[in-house]
Amino acid sequence: MAPIPGSGLAKGLAVTLRTMTRKSVTAPYPDTQPDLPPRTRGVIGLFEENCTVCMLCARECPDWCIYIDSHKETVPAATPGGRERSRNVLDRFAIDFSLCMYCGICIEVCPFDALFWSPEFEYAETDIRDLTHERDKLREWMWTVPAPPALDPGAEEPKELAAARKTAEKLAAARTTEAAPPPVGTEPHADEQARAAESPTRPAGESKQQTDQPRQEGRE
Ligand code: SF4
Ligand code: SF4
Repeated sequence: MAPIPGSGLAKGLAVTLRTMTRKSVTAPYPDTQPDLPPRTRGVIGLFEENCTVCMLCARECPDWCIYIDSHKETVPAATPGGRERSRNVLDRFAIDFSLCMYCGICIEVCPFDALFWSPEFEYAETDIRDLTHERDKLREWMWTVPAPPALDPGAEEPKELAAARKTAEKLAAARTTEAAPPPVGTEPHADEQARAAESPTRPAGESKQQTDQPRQEGRE
């Protein structure tokens, strides 16, 4: 059956009239900020304290747009007679967001939780070369990463939290020991304290030999 002449126009006008009476779904950005989901893949933040320069992210990135430079540093032995260790120190960490395809592989493969998605998206540039962002900028974006969701009630505490608490307790104990008064028997003797009071240049507990030594050295 042939269409009635003008029916297409009538249908089009009906759609126009229907849409005119509905609330607009477009938002006038940037006056109105978009309401994005908190886990939006906006940009990648770097928590460089966690980065061990293992290079896994750079190797796995399909676009080869992660640039890492580092050097080796020798760490002295922790115990007397122990062996020195060497560790990687991060010199440069940059991501070229003009190449990045936001696949998230680098974040998934990082074994040390050093990379995170941030919902920040306002980093457009007029020059493509300015889309390579260095570690300072990536670190700045780290502070826009939303906090992780709360644990289920009754869930086991993550081992990272337990380890962090242990370290904090050790540090607190070490500070308390430093601040505590010296044990009984190690204070300067009473007559030594009296001598120290007579001689204001000689601190209590310091022997005469110790205080005289620099003067003798000065004479030599
Ligand atoms: S999100 Fe994908 S493309 Fe972008 S830097 Fe990471 S691995 Fe490379
Ligand atoms: S995978 Fe993680 S720890 Fe390894 S270099 Fe990349 S960001 Fe650093």
